[in-house]
Amino acid sequence: MICERIWQHICVEREKVARVGHIFKWQRQKIVSLKPEEVECSLCCRLYYRPTTTPCGHTLCEPCLNRCLDHNTICPVCRSPLTIMLGKYQHKPCIALATILKECLPEDYLEREREHRSEQGTLINLTEILSTDGYQDSFELSLFVCCLAFPYVQCNLHIFEPRYRLMIRQAWESESKCFGMCVPLGDTFYQFGTILKINNHQILDDGRVMINTIGVRRFTVLSHYKRDGYIVALVCLISDTDRHIESERVSVEMRNALAYAVSSANVQIAEMLGTIPEHSEGEEGPDGPGWIWYGLGLAHLRGTEISPEVLGDTSAISRYRKLRDLFLRKF
Ligand SMILES: [Zn+2]
Ligand SMILES: [Zn+2]
Repeated sequence: MICERIWQHICVEREKVARVGHIFKWQRQKIVSLKPEEVECSLCCRLYYRPTTTPCGHTLCEPCLNRCLDHNTICPVCRSPLTIMLGKYQHKPCIALATILKECLPEDYLEREREHRSEQGTLINLTEILSTDGYQDSFELSLFVCCLAFPYVQCNLHIFEPRYRLMIRQAWESESKCFGMCVPLGDTFYQFGTILKINNHQILDDGRVMINTIGVRRFTVLSHYKRDGYIVALVCLISDTDRHIESERVSVEMRNALAYAVSSANVQIAEMLGTIPEHSEGEEGPDGPGWIWYGLGLAHLRGTEISPEVLGDTSAISRYRKLRDLFLRKF
């Protein structure tokens, strides 16, 4: 089939195609009569979305291929090893083919893109929600049930379970780069959690993923269901009803004590926590002063048990007192 031959040529020679514009134009004339069924992914049987070609010459949607690679590093069509597509050789969609699809089948491609975003739940504009101080409506959030994380505090994660690799990749590809973190509780999890934003995302050669994140906001889980093996929750943001502590003087004293505690902690802990959040008196956000969370994060890393219920506390003073008590006990 003419189209198949052109795909093969474009995908294998995509670098050349990008360099030699006139070849691209020549091929475009030949494929204007392209039909959607001629450019279907053999995994999802739909139009290619972000088409990606494997070294063995098979073209699939990038999300379809990634989901296969989460489980096994072989080509889902011919079972050739695809380890080379992970780690530093991480694959990229074929720009030439994607451009052809967008130009020849604009409506079909747009519909396919919308379908993909709706499946991922990324139609919600999380960036806008998180930048709105008084946001009160509920919204959906993908959850990683793993450990205790706090707003303003770094959290480094090492992910190897396929379902979470998928979830983290979807979060990384979304505009906000955010997902929710909750602490396990028996067969379920605590109702309070923290939204984490991915700063850094690294795929290792064996497919495991390392991420560096920072806590953004707290949330309460209202209900939840499973999608692709992980939990998607309907959540509501938590905001402090009082955001200020007793006085500027106690705040300065406590921050100094905190800086001293960090400087005397071991290097690993200091690296994990990052720097103490900036503080400007009277300008606290919905989570109150960042340094209080940072102090709780430090105590937690040094082995003090901190209940995830603290995330549901809407008083900065009450959190400050908890931290002060921990300091008095020299945690
Ligand atoms: Zn597909
Ligand atoms: Zn193959």
